Amino acid sequence: MASADMHDREPYLAGRVRLIYSDAPATVAINLLNAAVLSFVMRGELPSPILLGWFTFIASVMMLRIALYAWHRRAGGYDEIEARAWLLRLAVLTTLTGIGWGVGCLVVMSEAPPLHKVFTAFVLGGMAAGGLPSLARVFVTYLLFVIPVLGPAVLYFAWQGGEIGWSMAVMGTVLLAFLLMTGKRQERVVLEAVRLAGENRGLVANLIEETEKALEAKGRAEDLNEDLRNEIADRERVEERLRDREKALANAQRIARLGSWEWDIVNDRIVSSEENNRLFGRDMNATAYDYDTILNIVHAEDRERVDAVIRDAIAQCKPYSCDYRIILPDGSEKVIFEQADIACDSAGRANCITGTNLDITERYEVEQELLAAKFQAEEANAAKSQFLANMSHELRTPLNAVIGYSEILKEDVEERGQSDLAPDLERINIAGRHLLQLINEVLDLSRVEAGRTEFHLEEIDLTVLISEVAATVRPLVEVNGNRLILDIPTKPGRMRADATKLKQILFNLLANAAKFTDEGEIHFGMSRFHDDARTGGKEWIRFYVADSGIGIARDSLESVFVAFERTETGRDSKYGGTGLGLAICRHYSEMMGGAISVDSKPGEGSRFTVRLPVQAVDCRPARVAGAGE
Ligand code: ADP
Repeated sequence: MASADMHDREPYLAGRVRLIYSDAPATVAINLLNAAVLSFVMRGELPSPILLGWFTFIASVMMLRIALYAWHRRAGGYDEIEARAWLLRLAVLTTLTGIGWGVGCLVVMSEAPPLHKVFTAFVLGGMAAGGLPSLARVFVTYLLFVIPVLGPAVLYFAWQGGEIGWSMAVMGTVLLAFLLMTGKRQERVVLEAVRLAGENRGLVANLIEETEKALEAKGRAEDLNEDLRNEIADRERVEERLRDREKALANAQRIARLGSWEWDIVNDRIVSSEENNRLFGRDMNATAYDYDTILNIVHAEDRERVDAVIRDAIAQCKPYSCDYRIILPDGSEKVIFEQADIACDSAGRANCITGTNLDITERYEVEQELLAAKFQAEEANAAKSQFLANMSHELRTPLNAVIGYSEILKEDVEERGQSDLAPDLERINIAGRHLLQLINEVLDLSRVEAGRTEFHLEEIDLTVLISEVAATVRPLVEVNGNRLILDIPTKPGRMRADATKLKQILFNLLANAAKFTDEGEIHFGMSRFHDDARTGGKEWIRFYVADSGIGIARDSLESVFVAFERTETGRDSKYGGTGLGLAICRHYSEMMGGAISVDSKPGEGSRFTVRLPVQAVDCRPARVAGAGE
């Protein structure tokens, strides 16, 4: 507040005071020079002590002025309030200087001759005028200087009187008034200059600040520009990569003949890839293509099915796949395999489908050809099986007659004592039976292959079935000096299966064991077991036939179940056989829901195992397989 008041009364005082202080060296030099010149000029006119005393006074004040100047410099910066103190110190010295000159010159003039008086008046005028530029910056300082300088001389001349005296007094007064006016004006000019300088400084500071801000903003803008340029470059690079990928994808789609598409269900708009357009022979991106338009491209016979598949997938919000034919604009057909995934909102409503279309026309045609070929092959195979079944049937009737008559004839010749004919009739009988077995087996296999094997599932009392099988096979086992050992639980229980086919399987295995074993043991066993509870706990029956016969080489273990396959040793004519028995066993076991396997070592024997469900539910239709299977 004090500073503000101060500023109002003496604006920019500190600045102005500092300016006056800065003139001190020049002021001191001029004062000393003028004092020296005046003393020199007046040396003959005045007593030396007076002159010396005066000069010493002026010089002392100047020394103080220099000391004050040095102090002021050391003090450095100060505010408007401190400026008053500095002004006061200065004013004291300038007043002393003024008094020194005014009073000194008065003494000189009172003693000096007229010319010296004029010279002195001239020096005083010069001093008064010379102080103006520096001291008038603070007018009061100049006032305190100029009045003591000129005042005594004016008074002196007025006191002298006379024409010259009064003239000098008037001129001195005019000069004083003029200097005071000029001083006042000078102070105003200085004030204005200082104010303008202050304003300029403010303006410059503002300008600098604004410029700095602008530069900063420019820097930021440049940074932003740089960022933007980098971002644009990045984006361009990404777009470039994207274009490359799109090109690669389009290429891959073209090579794979795989089109892709997206269907915005909400707006019923389709976005279709280049390859998809090529597949359909149309630009599916055109606005004309909506769901119904595209559905109309689908072959009329497939349309309803495809529509149902898609609608069902949308309703359930789940992926789908289907194949269908489409009609191209030129009327030709193409077969498409479509796969799609459906995007749904949180409420489960489908809003977009993304899918692929694969051109499978060639594959479809090949498949059709293959299917036709397969159908033909199956037809041919069925015809062959039918032929074999018929032939077997036709062969069996006369063969039974041959076997029957050979037995009757053998009995006849023995009764008539023509025993020499008996061995031939026996051979006819054996050959006939072998042929009959072969025909029966061919017939069974033909039925399997033709899918015409019939199963008659029934409840079987295993005690009865096993004892029947054992009784039938025992004489056969004992022919080669073998021993039949049964490993059957005391209560084997019951099972549901086709009894005839089960007996056929067991008899076949036991007959083979008897055939390929000499003077050994043949074990016939049975047990029941359950599947693991985790896999359903199903109940099974396991039959096994183990012998100590010739065994089977490891590499033949699988092929013994293939029709007409016989092992190296099995082919030996002494064993006889057709190579069909085990193939039929395998078919029957599998068709009743079970399996057959073998474990064997050449020279040590074989173990055949048949696993069947205790409850055969539904016998699977026969696998249609070629005779070479
Ligand atoms: P077949 O006995 O009429 O030749 P199979 O299909 O019953 O026809 O048997 C196929 C072949 O398996 C037999 O020829 C024989 O080589 C081999 N084989 C079957 N059972 C045995 C067995 N218990 N010991 C050794 N080889 C066997």
